Amino acid sequence: MDLASKVRVIKDFPKPGINFRDITTLLQDAEAFKKTVDALVELCKDMQVDVVACPEARGFVLGAPLAYALGKGVVLLRKPGKLPGRTVCYNYELEYGSDALEVHEGAIQAGQKVLLVDDVLATGGTVAAAVELVKKSGGEVAGIAFLIELLGLGAREKLGDYPVVTLLQLE
Ligand code: 5GP
Repeated sequence: MDLASKVRVIKDFPKPGINFRDITTLLQDAEAFKKTVDALVELCKDMQVDVVACPEARGFVLGAPLAYALGKGVVLLRKPGKLPGRTVCYNYELEYGSDALEVHEGAIQAGQKVLLVDDVLATGGTVAAAVELVKKSGGEVAGIAFLIELLGLGAREKLGDYPVVTLLQLE
């Protein structure tokens, strides 16, 4: 099965000029979802990691089954105000304005090796913030996995030498 064909493109979302890759069409297809998770497990199974961390919300959908299959726990990276306990926060700049990611204090232990997982790598801003949040929590990013890498947006340069695996590379 061609997984890329299961990803729907929505033109001009969330604003004019953006071709949004809608993965809901892949997720709701049992065979495509299984194949996606299995393929991500295959790409990540030899990484030496202690825990999987994923940003909301689509990162959760892939991060949780990947963590389960790898026999690891899953740590949720959330937008501000969503986590009930004390948090570590990392603020970052966007093209217009700023945003932040939070994680519970102690969710990532000092020195823990973390596998970051998200659905799409576009400009790399979100994952760069996730990397900083892991570091601020005392963890170490040991690998980064995406379902989709959008090529030509310069994201890889932002990720330096971290081991990055991506299932689908799309123009
Ligand atoms: P970046 O920060 O790399 O520019 O954008 C990646 C983040 O925004 C990811 O968390 C991802 O969920 C979301 N995102 C950006 N573009 C798309 C897209 O075309 N499709 C989907 N599904 N998510 C996207």
